[in-house]
Amino acid sequence: MKVAIASGKGGTGKTMVTASLSATWESPVVAVDLDVEEPNLHLFLKPEWTGRQDALIEVPRVDEEKCDYCRKCADLCQFKAISVLSTVVMVFPEMCHGCGGCMAVCPKGAITAGTRTLGEITWGHSGDNAFLMGRLRVGEAMSPPLIREVQAQLARSDLFNPAADVLMDAPPGVSCPAVNAVIDSDVIVLVTEPTPFGVFDLRLAHQAFLPLNKPMGVVVNRAGLGNDEVYGFCRGAGLPILAEIPYDRAIAEAYADGDIVARRNPQWREMFGQLARAIQALGAMTREARHA
Ligand code: SF4
Ligand code: SF4
Repeated sequence: MKVAIASGKGGTGKTMVTASLSATWESPVVAVDLDVEEPNLHLFLKPEWTGRQDALIEVPRVDEEKCDYCRKCADLCQFKAISVLSTVVMVFPEMCHGCGGCMAVCPKGAITAGTRTLGEITWGHSGDNAFLMGRLRVGEAMSPPLIREVQAQLARSDLFNPAADVLMDAPPGVSCPAVNAVIDSDVIVLVTEPTPFGVFDLRLAHQAFLPLNKPMGVVVNRAGLGNDEVYGFCRGAGLPILAEIPYDRAIAEAYADGDIVARRNPQWREMFGQLARAIQALGAMTREARHA
């Protein structure tokens, strides 16, 4: 089962939840940090690194000797990453999404694939769990292709047990990076807080992910803070509350120390253990409903 831990906004405790879930999941998991712009799951899980590779994207390289300036490439590109001005072809690699369309459409075979570095992918082990992370290159704007590269890396059976469950720390928000991170999951866990901002962004995340038709549940972090609006919204939207993490200074201190909250005391370990079981039950219920 692949579980995406997501949130409509940053700072809700998504990474804290992912770290504690990986520490309490009943079997070894692959913990994946897809928050490639600001990956910080490794600060909690403290993996021992065993490998890395550059993440590359294919960008067009034009041989103007072969080009007849027909403009087919520029007309096709939705991202304005290639332009034809009279007898000059200009490529803007930073805007290229690597779709390969211009190469496929060029009637003269004038476009070949060059590469641009998006960032790096690193992997290793944290106790019995495997760990995988993407980190966007400083100055690079496009995180979705790197997120897809990290997800593709999960298919490497020489590195990761294909039978292991996967816990993915998704980027916050509801734009392309977040959707790319959750699109491949079996269950989406939305971490929120009971404040007006938390409910507003939870609503957005629910709307954004609903068309993906995946089971979703909510973790209310800092429960006891703010008001009850989040519970009314979840009831109305049919979103189960999978766990409530209390608003507790000691949890904030554990987080600030870079500790895994579930390892601080038996009570919190049990709380995250129950959350893990609730997520597994949600995934199993949905699988059964789909097969009925
Ligand atoms: S499609 Fe090929 S031939 Fe036409 S302008 Fe682009 S590079 Fe040149
Ligand atoms: S590879 Fe795709 S995004 Fe990049 S320039 Fe060609 S058509 Fe545009």
